[in-house]
Amino acid sequence: MTRRKMVAGNWKMHKTLAESVDLAGRVAEGLKDADLDVLVAPTALALAAVGTRLAGSMVLLAAQNIFWEEQGAYTGEVSAPLVRAAGASHVIIGHSERRQYFGESEKTAGLRVAAALAGGLVPILCVGETLAERQKDQTQGVLESQLAGALAGLAANDLGGLILAYEPVWAIGTGVNASAQQANEAHAFIRAWLDYRFDKEVANGTRILYGGSVKPANAAGLLNQSEVDGALVGGASLNAADFLGIIQAV
Ligand code: PEP
Repeated sequence: MTRRKMVAGNWKMHKTLAESVDLAGRVAEGLKDADLDVLVAPTALALAAVGTRLAGSMVLLAAQNIFWEEQGAYTGEVSAPLVRAAGASHVIIGHSERRQYFGESEKTAGLRVAAALAGGLVPILCVGETLAERQKDQTQGVLESQLAGALAGLAANDLGGLILAYEPVWAIGTGVNASAQQANEAHAFIRAWLDYRFDKEVANGTRILYGGSVKPANAAGLLNQSEVDGALVGGASLNAADFLGIIQAV
């Protein structure tokens, strides 16, 4: 089965509203007949305006997080219906920064995945080990428990196009990317786990993105691996030329 490649940009807590709209426009205009999916995830504040700027373009829009309730007295949160109404089709869930700074657990990631699916959003679920865990040879165990926790209770036909992102924590924002071999091995493990937990069709059809210091210079080596279906890009997605350079390397 051929899986369509995807390059996704996570803008994190960067860019004002005007800067976000400008960057989205540069990305949309810079794409020339790209035969892959391209997605950007601006701040919640900029979602609607970026969605308006991207209307009619091929660039997809994602939120960086959602709360699992649909509405209510949850100060500071946004829900699946709210981000969908703002134009998002996808949502990043379980990013390591959310696990590190905001108490995200396997359980809360699972609640968000379920809320995304119920709300018609495609979840982009991030998993990955820390350096200490890799050094203790715990990478596979960590990936397994993050996946099992966040996808608990779901059956193969519930997954709604789920996308996974393997993001080793030691490679995020550090300038130290996983080697192509390390990425491919981790992706192969995740794919085997999908087969064991769901079935072959899910394993073969689920896109697994690599994230962690992807730049135009290292993108081709990482993205040409057989198990790597694209990239989730942080820092280099904040500059249109770099982001487009990664897209061109696919
Ligand atoms: C990320 O935040 O998902 C990420 C991969 O960041 P960076 O590309 O900056 O390492």
